Amino acid sequence: MNPEFIDGVRVFRADKDEIRKWTGEYYFGYTSNPGGVNPVIWLRNDLPECVQASVLAHEMYHAKDSKFHSSSLLDREVRANIAGVKAHPLGFLLGIWLSITDKDRLRLYLNRLTKNF
Ligand SMILES: [Zn+2]
Repeated sequence: MNPEFIDGVRVFRADKDEIRKWTGEYYFGYTSNPGGVNPVIWLRNDLPECVQASVLAHEMYHAKDSKFHSSSLLDREVRANIAGVKAHPLGFLLGIWLSITDKDRLRLYLNRLTKNF
């Protein structure tokens, strides 16, 4: 699997099961080493393009967020979500809909809220 380079960040696109295999969770997007050197973004390629655009902007914000590690989970996710809304408002809303109608995504959110990761 070859990455794309977007704004100097490696972006791997993969389907739901591949993303889970690589990240351990059913993420729409995931950034390894956020706010650090050579971050890598994982992005679901089986979502509508407008959702991918919003998720990519969200993850790109994490990738370049110099305050990532000094912020609370809520603060850093709010900042990244603002980036996702600005990039594609409809894609952001559709992403919420696709999350609240997917049992794997709901389980992920419950785990994140209770285990704070
Ligand atoms: Zn995030």
